[in-house]
Amino acid sequence: LMLTLAATPAGAVGERYLDAKASTPARVADLLRRMTVEEKVGQLQQIAVNRMQGDCNWSGGALNETCMREVLADQHAGSVLSGGGAAPAVNTPRAWAEMVNSIQRYAIEHSRLRIPIVYGVDAVHGHNNVIGASIFPHQLGLGATWNTALNQRTAESTQRAVAATGTTWNFAPVADLARDQRWGRYYETYAEDPVLAGTLAAGAVTGLQNKASGRPVAATVKHFAGYSEPFNGHDRTPADLSPRYLQDTILPPYKAAVDAGALTVMVNSGAVNGIPATGSRWLLTDLLRDEWDFKGVVISDWNDVRLLHTAYHITDSYAGAVAAAVNAGVDMAMVPPDDRGFHQAALDAVNQKLISKKRLDQAVGRILTLKFQLGLFDKPYVDPAAADAAVLQADRPLNRQAATESLVLLRNQDGTLPLGPDTKRIVVAGPQADNLTDQVGGWTVGWQRIPDGVTIPGTTILAGLRDTAPAGTTVVGTSSPDDAVAQAADADAVVVAVGNRAAAEGEADMPNPVLAPDQQDLVARLQATGTPVIVVVVSDRPLVLGPANTTDALLAAWNPGSEGGNAIADVLYGRANPSGRLPVSWPSQIGNQPLYYQQLPGTNAGTGSGYTPAYPFGAGLSYTTFTTAGTTLASPTVRPKDNVRVTVTVSNTGTRAGDLVVPLYAGQAVANPLAPPRRLVAFTKVSLAPGENRTVTLNFPASRLAVTPGDMISTDSPRVTPGRYLITAGESAATLTVR
Ligand code: BGC
Repeated sequence: LMLTLAATPAGAVGERYLDAKASTPARVADLLRRMTVEEKVGQLQQIAVNRMQGDCNWSGGALNETCMREVLADQHAGSVLSGGGAAPAVNTPRAWAEMVNSIQRYAIEHSRLRIPIVYGVDAVHGHNNVIGASIFPHQLGLGATWNTALNQRTAESTQRAVAATGTTWNFAPVADLARDQRWGRYYETYAEDPVLAGTLAAGAVTGLQNKASGRPVAATVKHFAGYSEPFNGHDRTPADLSPRYLQDTILPPYKAAVDAGALTVMVNSGAVNGIPATGSRWLLTDLLRDEWDFKGVVISDWNDVRLLHTAYHITDSYAGAVAAAVNAGVDMAMVPPDDRGFHQAALDAVNQKLISKKRLDQAVGRILTLKFQLGLFDKPYVDPAAADAAVLQADRPLNRQAATESLVLLRNQDGTLPLGPDTKRIVVAGPQADNLTDQVGGWTVGWQRIPDGVTIPGTTILAGLRDTAPAGTTVVGTSSPDDAVAQAADADAVVVAVGNRAAAEGEADMPNPVLAPDQQDLVARLQATGTPVIVVVVSDRPLVLGPANTTDALLAAWNPGSEGGNAIADVLYGRANPSGRLPVSWPSQIGNQPLYYQQLPGTNAGTGSGYTPAYPFGAGLSYTTFTTAGTTLASPTVRPKDNVRVTVTVSNTGTRAGDLVVPLYAGQAVANPLAPPRRLVAFTKVSLAPGENRTVTLNFPASRLAVTPGDMISTDSPRVTPGRYLITAGESAATLTVR
């Protein structure tokens, strides 16, 4: 060790790893050769920034040099994160950039080999950690847009904002599925459907890493894999997922996002089929590396390496836990600030030969490769003076469009919407009407929600309606339910915004995801006035709605972000034609959990296994009418490896311009093993002028039809069963033969 130290003084001329013109593999190999075991082990840890602030634990506050020294100089930490739980000590983009620069400078100047850190953050709907950033709809709302290009543009905007603050690692997107409404992270997913979720997650990876931007950021596919169905709906409880379900349904969206070139993957905190994902060699090495050919960095989720010892008890020491994780395929551990033990535990594991030098070098090599790819050795700092301009309220029109397209009109009796010129007096009521905190949702400035006392720019529903009401309209906002009922009697329409409270992770779990009784009561009393009632649901998941299911109009708004109020006003007034479609099934009763359209056939009433949503997957109304016809296959017979090309003709048969989501489903007439009668295989979204007809082409790989063959406990690889498949688009269908 001492020899190595003495032999490689930093800063000597000719060091290959510092030469920006050398290849990344050559730079990594050169640097690895110079590093001590202590330095290498340090790279394996990503330490929460809270450990370097205030009292070096959870206090927040200014950076504290004593604790910075421990983390960066003594322990050689490879990465720092502002996790969801970070105290929001630093909120402006400029201050954030200055903070990251300070940490970076300290790290480089106290590193013998001048190794930079990589700074990570959860920018899961815009750069949500700083005040004043554009807060986009959460992923579930973007799922409701069914608009791949739009979703990707929001990711590019996030990339610009994150990069401008010196942050080069973003723990997004989520490629988990929305299948159990009780789960607190439902809204962080795109959809219940693997093709919709996978397509959007892949586009997000491309956008979040936007190569053209000149300042690269790494995206993270999380939470690999099977995080979304904890067995009782409670976050991080174990999941039992049959190999068939895992392979055919759960894994494909992660695969799509990995194939899009994601530089990093984050591991599921939970256990699947009796194995904590963090310790699964099958998952993290056999599948991810050997089969999927993933080359980037695998990071654990928060504290999960230590938890292999202290929660899962798969080993009796911290060193054993580090070895279990690293040998399974984890390259970096995400370490909370109260953990002073990782570095020593990892050193012990290496010294006791629980981790081989080869595996250590492989993990460190991947981390260094990431840092070279991100340009951190060559350009470690950003210009803080440029951060505010790049972040503050950036891309508002894009944000408004994303929010607008995320809105799903579920009911519209007798043309209640859009509001017409004779709507002179509108009452705007309900707990979500003037409530930006719940509107933007969890993971905003703070982890759970916008912290008390913090305000961010944005437009609530009431403000949006006020700002954009046509001249001559009176908008009456009221926060009192009784006043709302009294006012409603004299109004032309009532907009009542209901929903649930912003929260994150386990705190967002809802054992009973039902609209709160007092809100149901308010809706019922407003209905009783006889004035048309328009319900807007601002929620992080579908809620069982009670009387809101029978109102004149019903709009699902999800967590529409900081432009949500403007977007909702645009749709209610008809300045925008709603085009969102449900990315999930909306339940009619809460006992139907988990709920998704891809139920396997069963013997119950011959229709499947009791799938009775209030509004099905894909539902959503428009102010115009559409037809879909003439589904035609480019070639009606294909091989399993082929691409399938389908054309359909879509028409706007109404009198308004509108956007139409065109989903393409495939189902097998006869299938053993069972397959869902309908699976989404492709989709697109088209804008159509009144009266316009257009022929659109959709492509999908026949491999999307694959299922795991074999008997009950089969772990064979999925394959496409030869046979006949019905391909449907709207009312029109064609038969595909796979040979
Ligand atoms: C979450 C991850 C997140 C991490 C860092 C964890 O609790 O599960 O999704 O990336 O915290 O904030």
